[in-house]
Amino acid sequence: MKTNAIVLAGGRGRRMGGTTPKQYLDLAGRPVVYHSLKAFEDSFIDNVILVCTEGDEDFCRKEIVIKYGLTKVNKIISGGRERYDSVMKGLSVSGGCDYIYIHDGARPLLSQHILERCQHYVEKYGAAVAAVPASDTVKIEDGNGFIKDTPERSLVWLMQTPQVFSYSLVKNAYEKLAESRERLKNAGVSITDDTMVVKMFGGVDAKLVENREPNLKITTPQDMIIAEALMKARETV
Ligand code: C5P
Repeated sequence: MKTNAIVLAGGRGRRMGGTTPKQYLDLAGRPVVYHSLKAFEDSFIDNVILVCTEGDEDFCRKEIVIKYGLTKVNKIISGGRERYDSVMKGLSVSGGCDYIYIHDGARPLLSQHILERCQHYVEKYGAAVAAVPASDTVKIEDGNGFIKDTPERSLVWLMQTPQVFSYSLVKNAYEKLAESRERLKNAGVSITDDTMVVKMFGGVDAKLVENREPNLKITTPQDMIIAEALMKARETV
């Protein structure tokens, strides 16, 4: 059985401010994306494709992959305009494998435990995603800043990554997405995660895999402080 991973670090992190993209900021002495890659390095995953911003390939190779001896990263490619473009590019070079993990490089706290749990469920259902039940009440806006609907909180989950799929399922779904891109764009549909693509174009519902460990996505400067504290706490446990 062969299992690969695509680690996404092709975003520009506009919400973060500053000039260094968030995936390269120093977190506990190493770049944010290093920590995500290291989780895969230490796992049962066979190969990792790192997707970075165009022009950063050499920097990633020298300053992250070679420097820290990440032997499983066998391809470094540039991403695309949207997250799903970056996923598409990653899938196009991922070669044959049985399962593929898609992970946001900006989630540096990825644990071995959630990788193992996702593997268990993807083998059973073909699609599995790390997620947490919502603890806050979630509201749907009317488009004008007022509340329109309140979904039943016990059924609301917040999606994380990894999002894990049987390779043929996700590859076919993304190929169909590529054909329908313009149509979706014109209809105002924004593709914000991979389970959406697999549902729309593969007809498969992903299994929600509850992640009880922190797995935050670095988005704001405060997230760096929280992630570093959580990382230190994990080391001492
Ligand atoms: O922007 P956001 O934080 O939602 O991005 C999630 C992940 O996807 C990040 O790790 C980011 O680097 C990556 N990404 C990408 N290509 C894009 C946009 C985002 O690889 N065009």
